[in-house]
Amino acid sequence: MRKNSSLPIIAISACLTGQAVRYDGGHKYTPLLIETLSKHTTLLPVCPETAIGLSVPRNKIQLTYKNGEIRVLDTINPQIDLSDLLHDYALQFLKQYQLSGLILQEKSPSCGIDNCKTFADNGEIIAYSSGIFAATVMNHLPELPRCCAIDLRNHQQLSNFIKQVEDYHSNF
Ligand code: SF4
Repeated sequence: MRKNSSLPIIAISACLTGQAVRYDGGHKYTPLLIETLSKHTTLLPVCPETAIGLSVPRNKIQLTYKNGEIRVLDTINPQIDLSDLLHDYALQFLKQYQLSGLILQEKSPSCGIDNCKTFADNGEIIAYSSGIFAATVMNHLPELPRCCAIDLRNHQQLSNFIKQVEDYHSNF
């Protein structure tokens, strides 16, 4: 799955492939998604949170607006700020693989795309934003086809996404 793989490579949240890497020890296996995409692409599971060394299970983390920017903080120990680790891991990941697509689990402070609760210091929800891993990848590859798993629930949605991925891959 290194660069120049013949099939398009789609990075996918590892929990969607059945890996039990979520903060609560669970996963989000999505059979139709995995079985359909596996026929046409190479799926590359990635869990940014375990990749930076967090354990399973682990404390929940959340997006928090702090000093004018969005940070990822531990909810039990808010002095633990994981933003830079997640950002740097995303850059390292992008150097390693030539991606043609990105599919991420929604609402995650690492993987969410525009749908993750973002809190003020006082605990109020003030916005919905992208997780730090997702935001970093999207900033660096703005044209990369990307999707939340929740938007790939039927054959038509999957077929449309695969076409986008194949078109992007054909430009390599
Ligand atoms: S960081 Fe991403 S891949 Fe890992 S458990 Fe959370 S949503 Fe799934």
